[in-house]
Amino acid sequence: MKTLRSFLSGEWVAGTGKPAVLVNPATEEAVAETSSEGLDLKAALAYARDVGGPALRDLSFAERGERLQSLADLIHEHRDELIECGLVNAGNTRGDAKFDVDGASATLHAYAELAKTLPAGPWLPDGEPVEIGSKRLAGRHVFVPLEGVGVHINAFNFPAWGMMEKAACAWLAGLPVLTKPATATALMAHRLAELVAESEILPVGTFSCLTGPAADLLDHVDERDVVAFTGSNDTGAWIRQIEHVRSKSVRLNVEADSLNAALLGPDVEPGSETFDLFVGDVYRDMTQKAGQKCTAIRRVFVPEGRLDAIREALVERLEGTVIGDPAVDGVRMGPIASASALKAVRSGLEKLEQDAKVAWRGEESFKTRDGFEGKGFFQAPVLLETATDADAPHVHSVEVFGPSTTLLPYSAPTAAYAAVKRGGGGLVCSIHTDDRTFLQEAVRSVASAHGRLYLGSKKMAGGAPGPGTALAPLQHGGPGRAGGGSELGGLRGVVHNMQRVALQGYGPLLDWLAK
Ligand code: NAP
Repeated sequence: MKTLRSFLSGEWVAGTGKPAVLVNPATEEAVAETSSEGLDLKAALAYARDVGGPALRDLSFAERGERLQSLADLIHEHRDELIECGLVNAGNTRGDAKFDVDGASATLHAYAELAKTLPAGPWLPDGEPVEIGSKRLAGRHVFVPLEGVGVHINAFNFPAWGMMEKAACAWLAGLPVLTKPATATALMAHRLAELVAESEILPVGTFSCLTGPAADLLDHVDERDVVAFTGSNDTGAWIRQIEHVRSKSVRLNVEADSLNAALLGPDVEPGSETFDLFVGDVYRDMTQKAGQKCTAIRRVFVPEGRLDAIREALVERLEGTVIGDPAVDGVRMGPIASASALKAVRSGLEKLEQDAKVAWRGEESFKTRDGFEGKGFFQAPVLLETATDADAPHVHSVEVFGPSTTLLPYSAPTAAYAAVKRGGGGLVCSIHTDDRTFLQEAVRSVASAHGRLYLGSKKMAGGAPGPGTALAPLQHGGPGRAGGGSELGGLRGVVHNMQRVALQGYGPLLDWLAK
């Protein structure tokens, strides 16, 4: 069996002890194993800081951007073999895996383009210079590179995109990266790490990859580093309370789970373009990656008079979805990524069913390859539904990270706004309407509880990527249970990896320094 090693301190190293076994979630066959036991993570961080940091900071923003573009090209060149890793180890259909791999190269490309617009010097200006008291005394803010490491801990659902969206921002900021993919689906991330390391596109020491559990990694970070975590709320909460992280005020960005909402305006008639766009967006989020997207719509708010039409339209599309091993022709939705993730999905559904009835459940018959009948971590889609304006506490607090969503009929828009916010802070909320008065009221009512609002209307029907796609130029992150973090968003994603400094002194001197 293939052993996945880690790339630390500039070399490939294998852990000791009992390895974790990675499987194909459609067949339960073992595909690789990995261990991080015994690896010297303190030395790996020191190497990245001392060797990688200075080398990366020696490059201008434009030169770093050129390397990001070379990495985007590299990923594109090896697209097919990376996609294959997603099929074999993450239960991805070809479309799911393309979404991940192409998302990685598109994000690198977007940051390569951004780099072309940045200054020639080592700092980024932050706003305009300010006069302080007299004309001679001035102040200005700049972002300067950090002298630490970007320590990136990723979730299992986007091994390529998840890795590169964090890394692109950090590298452009001048920060070396130590990335840690989720163990269960690490095959694609590991292949990507091999490609990056072999390519020598990046200066030595600017890229490290820890494959396997995090072990004592976070015991060695300090005030110079930036920890960026994507994953469950529970793990995020655990990382926040690590004494070492707290006492050193280590910068920590958390992207956690989210009960994303979709809100249909009362004006939207069944059969209209906006209605179809809404149904298409909900359906995509239920089935793409088997619902394992942090941005997927979990709560669907519809006027009570539209409930039947929405349910029927969704069921019609769900009924036509073939579920099974992505290696079998015609399969459109694969399995859940691991046995433990499937267990969590089932336990979450049990909780939701305390508040909501099952409006539709797919058949538990899955297309498998010959000889693998009864194998695989499959979950049929489940459409749940509450009564109008139901209290439904579990629906507003339990994330089912799988192919399920809940329809919540509302009697009046104000009831819907209040219920949307019961999700406790989300990554994205979509509002589908062609009524500007409703749109304005809805946006004002729910905006502060979200990191992004997706405004669906007939004007954008057809060409829109849907609320479930995180885009490099727009912020990805959200308040409250979504983790309180923020990634991407163009330059916003870069400056998270830098230090803002206020310079105060003689105005012309500051102008000269900041050049
Ligand atoms: P998870 O179990 O929290 O794991 C996430 C990452 O944390 C993995 O790399 C995991 O490593 C690592 N980890 C686990 N325990 C750790 C510890 N004690 N110290 C340091 N690292 C630790 O989450 P998941 O099951 O992979 O992902 C699903 C969740 O992620 C969902 O709730 C989803 O909503 C959320 N998510 C959020 C976003 C977003 O952008 N907001 C994006 C994707 C997913 P091992 O795999 O080695 O255990």
